[in-house]
Amino acid sequence: MLRFFNTMARKKMKFVPLEKGKVKMYTCGPTVYDFAHIGNFRTYVFQDLLRRWLEYRGFTVTQVMQFTDVDDRTIKASREQGIPLNVHTKKFIDAFFEHSQRLNIEKAECYPRATEHIDEMVVFVKQLIEKGYAYKAEDGSIYYDISKFKDYGKLSKMKLKELKAGARVKVDSYEKEQAWDFALWKAWDKEDGNVFWETEIGKGRPGWHLECSVLSMLYLGETLDIHSGGVDLIFPHHENEIAQSEAVTGKKFVNYWLHSEHLMVEGEKMAKSLGNYYTLKDLLDKGYSAGALRYLLLSTHYRQQLNFTFEGLKAAQSTIERLTIFLERLQEVDGEPAGEELKELIRTARMSFGTALDDDLNITKALATLFDFVREVNRLIDQGKVSRKEAKTVHDSMMDFDNVLAIMGEVKKELLPKEIEELIQEREAARKAKDWKAADEIRQRLYERGIILEDATTGVKWRRKS
Ligand SMILES: [Zn+2]
Repeated sequence: MLRFFNTMARKKMKFVPLEKGKVKMYTCGPTVYDFAHIGNFRTYVFQDLLRRWLEYRGFTVTQVMQFTDVDDRTIKASREQGIPLNVHTKKFIDAFFEHSQRLNIEKAECYPRATEHIDEMVVFVKQLIEKGYAYKAEDGSIYYDISKFKDYGKLSKMKLKELKAGARVKVDSYEKEQAWDFALWKAWDKEDGNVFWETEIGKGRPGWHLECSVLSMLYLGETLDIHSGGVDLIFPHHENEIAQSEAVTGKKFVNYWLHSEHLMVEGEKMAKSLGNYYTLKDLLDKGYSAGALRYLLLSTHYRQQLNFTFEGLKAAQSTIERLTIFLERLQEVDGEPAGEELKELIRTARMSFGTALDDDLNITKALATLFDFVREVNRLIDQGKVSRKEAKTVHDSMMDFDNVLAIMGEVKKELLPKEIEELIQEREAARKAKDWKAADEIRQRLYERGIILEDATTGVKWRRKS
């Protein structure tokens, strides 16, 4: 039985999707004002394990991850550097995709950007105003009135008895002590420079919390199976998403809330000011592999704090090397058949691996199973057992495990050349602009390069011509 720890209920619950065999999953994406750091990637690697495990269990997963490409921080960063917002954010979106690929993170079905959906956000805010959940303040900004939503605080389990009527917070990130009315729509002020939209609800830009309600519902529907993110998003971000979404639909927004814990560095909070702030690139530059980082991020259970150390990263690197050596050894095995003993080892390993991950992704147990299996097979090989045919079944099992873990051989996944990636993006832009002629031309050019595009409702996918 597949179970997950649901933050809303604060306990493990049997996973039952809305529709049999399908999972609608929303994961809060990066705010693209800077490179995502290894703490961010801890969350994305956890979400990847979650996704891969659901797929392993036969579910079809539709995952949506948005890019926050307009907010307080992106505007500030782009203005400081004197470059247009979309140029600034593109650099970090590109880097995010590159780092994700290096870390073997499967692609989501859809990556909408906040700036591409302002119209839908305006419609949503208008609905909140009509239903009496939102109001316009003196400066033209529109706020969510949290006193109108009776369940406000249900995810973070906060008490609202000291709610200050009408107190407001305009910034996107704030503490529980400031559980005030939050900004849905921020009226333009000079700090925003040339970043604004002229809309029916005024000249301005959306608040951060709004985009996730709008984009998740737009692409996945009114109720999601799973919504996940780091624990720091529980309040105010996810609390506000619930208030917005449920006020508009009158329906439950999310069935299972999954949150991953923080990453610490050598026992301390990671911060640029402490000099212990790392991106994937920083670690690659120091000579570590992306596979080692993935293993390190993956190997601590997602609901426990992970203490990143360079010693741990070195250990992760040698663990992966051990697995590689084992896989290579299997290629050369040519012993006596081990028979029933090996069959039993495979059966037990597969069962324990599955039982462990079914239990709220108990990765510690799953990895222990994997290493027991490797050790036992090595013992048999040392004894001159394990035939070529048997070695093949062991290898198949290892590859099955690796469909979930994605740690054995980081180059297994194909990387697209940069110019092809760019052509796909160009075509997306043409399609958005309803320039069908240009879109078709680019599609044809990609076809000539051996790439076939498929437009799904959730976005475009590619495959190689066979
Ligand atoms: Zn979000």
